[in-house]
Amino acid sequence: MGKVWFVGAGPGDPDLLTVKGRRLIESAGAILYAGSLVDRAATRYAPAGCIVRDSSDMTLEEIAAWLIEQVARGIDVVRLQTGDPTLYGALAEMGRALDAAGVAWAVVPGVSSAMASAAAACETLTLPEVTQTVILTRVEGRTPMPPGEDLESLAAHRSTLCIYLSITLLHEVQRALRAAGWAEDAPIVVVQKASWPGEEKIVRGTLADIKRRCQEEKIGSQAMIIASPALGARHWKEVAHSKLYDPGFSHRFRSVQEGAL
Ligand code: SAH
Repeated sequence: MGKVWFVGAGPGDPDLLTVKGRRLIESAGAILYAGSLVDRAATRYAPAGCIVRDSSDMTLEEIAAWLIEQVARGIDVVRLQTGDPTLYGALAEMGRALDAAGVAWAVVPGVSSAMASAAAACETLTLPEVTQTVILTRVEGRTPMPPGEDLESLAAHRSTLCIYLSITLLHEVQRALRAAGWAEDAPIVVVQKASWPGEEKIVRGTLADIKRRCQEEKIGSQAMIIASPALGARHWKEVAHSKLYDPGFSHRFRSVQEGAL
């Protein structure tokens, strides 16, 4: 009996696959990948003779059955998912089916699209004295939000919000941020196809105009919404500096510099 590896493929650029993920793909007997977002990594690194299948036309039950059927042949199987498998990836549902069948499985993390989007826009998600918290969330679509997790309540923290799966619900994002008291000129950045060579789009706007700007750029899918009081910090006149680099702040790898205090 082989093992099933849930591998994070990263946000799209095959170079953003982890070394471990790539090694597992290179030695896999079968790969089931999640749609067009990750096919490049799957097809680029799969060994000769490896079965490679797209799961976009399969139900969750069919996916689990396929994985079980393949490992039963004594090969290792890679389930390749966009970004990181622990975020919006049906990991628990598939893992439970594998457990029930007595199949061993493990997870290899990936670069999530929130991180890739912040990187694409050269933005920091945390900034001293501005925000030290990042909330990864979505707005309610067909999947209901559990009590207390509506965007309005989360936005009340005024921390960084990375909003997945919600680009077609930008009006709802605007409503929730307004209701939580965010200013009309609060900056918002939307990144479509972060890390995709030649296809990445970055749209910068404010709470007031981000929807119009996204419409103008025809952004209707595969996009991350980042709302954060830290956006644009590279252009501010001044920012508080991280204590980690403060000469008066000693830590495990460095002692306080002479004369700094
Ligand atoms: N597990 C994935 C998320 C899957 S949910 C991860 O960790 O990134 C799918 C949502 O992820 C999309 O609706 C979009 O909001 C976001 N997404 C995935 N790839 C993206 C990319 N390359 N650029 C921007 N957003 C992306």
